[in-house]
Amino acid sequence: MAHSVWTDGDGPDPAVLGLQQRELTPDQIKRFEGYVAEMFTAFGMDVDTPGTRDTPRRFVKGLFDVTNGYDGDPKLVRVFPTECRGDPDCRLSQVVEGPISFFAMCEHHVMPFHGQAYVGYIAHEHIIGISKLTRLVRLFARRFTLQERIGRQVADALQALLAPHGVAVYLEAEHLCMQMRGVNEQSSLTRTTHWRGNYDSNASLREEFFAACGLKRG
Ligand SMILES: [Zn+2]
Ligand SMILES: [Zn+2]
Repeated sequence: MAHSVWTDGDGPDPAVLGLQQRELTPDQIKRFEGYVAEMFTAFGMDVDTPGTRDTPRRFVKGLFDVTNGYDGDPKLVRVFPTECRGDPDCRLSQVVEGPISFFAMCEHHVMPFHGQAYVGYIAHEHIIGISKLTRLVRLFARRFTLQERIGRQVADALQALLAPHGVAVYLEAEHLCMQMRGVNEQSSLTRTTHWRGNYDSNASLREEFFAACGLKRG
């Protein structure tokens, strides 16, 4: 069954992936570099040494690069047909991938958070290459975002792309905005879960998912 979210032959609908047209003119980039130089100078950096002269340029370029999840991923292409015979096995057999490491920018503080994602789904009539799950996580992580949003977007995208019997997404991450500022310096993990379909209604599937991830949580 073809899914409407797939445009003919050339990958998923940009709306499902939340893609944006990012086009910066050379004039804009020059201006941004000026803002950054002004700010860094006010914050104490000497931006006129051999080591720092290019720092505003590198900063603007670097921030643009680490948020390139808005641009899409040309290798995130196809889903494949599989067989759903409608037997109980079809509704319970999980594909689980992880740990998938990711780096993201907290949209509240524009500081990184990073960690591992685990993604599971129960196929119906479509499957996706295992490596694409990694690509999907990184597509949503490399933005200005929130941990909860990455999990929700991965779950919703898989739901839209594969129409599976269920999707499970578990993320654990360290947030530098918490660790580098303030008093609480010990490393702590923020954990988020997202369940769709059969995972939502079946606690033993969730337990199995965590066991398959090598995580003893339920
Ligand atoms: Zn933050
Ligand atoms: Zn099925």
